[in-house]
Amino acid sequence: MIDTHCHLADEVFEADLEAVIARARDAGLQGAICIVAAGDQAERGRAARVTTLWPSVACAVGVHPHQAQQAADQQPGRAEAWIREAAAARGGICAVGEIGLDYHYDFSPRDVQRRVFADQLAVARALSLPVIIHTREADEDTFAMLASDAAGLPGVFHCFTGGVDRARRALDLGFHLSLAGILTFPRATDLHEVAAFAPFDRLLIETDSPFLAPVPHRGRRNEPAFVARVAARLAELRETSLESVVAQTTANALQLFGAQPLARVDTPRASML
Ligand SMILES: [Zn+2]
Repeated sequence: MIDTHCHLADEVFEADLEAVIARARDAGLQGAICIVAAGDQAERGRAARVTTLWPSVACAVGVHPHQAQQAADQQPGRAEAWIREAAAARGGICAVGEIGLDYHYDFSPRDVQRRVFADQLAVARALSLPVIIHTREADEDTFAMLASDAAGLPGVFHCFTGGVDRARRALDLGFHLSLAGILTFPRATDLHEVAAFAPFDRLLIETDSPFLAPVPHRGRRNEPAFVARVAARLAELRETSLESVVAQTTANALQLFGAQPLARVDTPRASML
């Protein structure tokens, strides 16, 4: 099992990171993708500790739409420079993300969000990296930009929500759908339909931890181990075994993000024992 979207380098995990990682391994995770905010030096430092403690973690780096203004305030091309720097550093990155548009919070002006998003789609293409998309209440612009600026780029709609029609639009663009803890919520019936409808080879699982803990952990800090709840619910909805969900979603993640370091044989370090 691979948690394809978690914020393990967030400061909320700093104090008990080793225990969080130990629980993830005990839950059967072979690796995870750690999302790192491109402009946050402190988080980038903590990400280095995450990958030292858990070598089968891959990092994705991007400027979140919430921080688009912050990137734009610096100098033109700042987002691109941060991403190129992270990609060139030891360990590299497996994706550009999370990037996109968020018109729910509007923490950055929409035109600035679109500009920074377009810049990052271009750098993903230049570096031949997949993209991890965050979009909220911005479907028309997101789909339009992906169809033009990102045509042919591989990627995923992270924490996918909504119904079959929206899923079809993302799938038609060639994107994967990543399902998070919302799948375990009893009222998420639209999403339950998507889980059953989507081609099996286009589905990923994630936690988005520390946010959005699945049932029965709702309201608490989420962590990568809980992705097992998403996998179990997906197996029920697709009327298949947990083993087949684990095998398929893991293969999908390795295909989209590359096998290194996610498929690294995971030997616990002495410091973890
Ligand atoms: Zn996220």
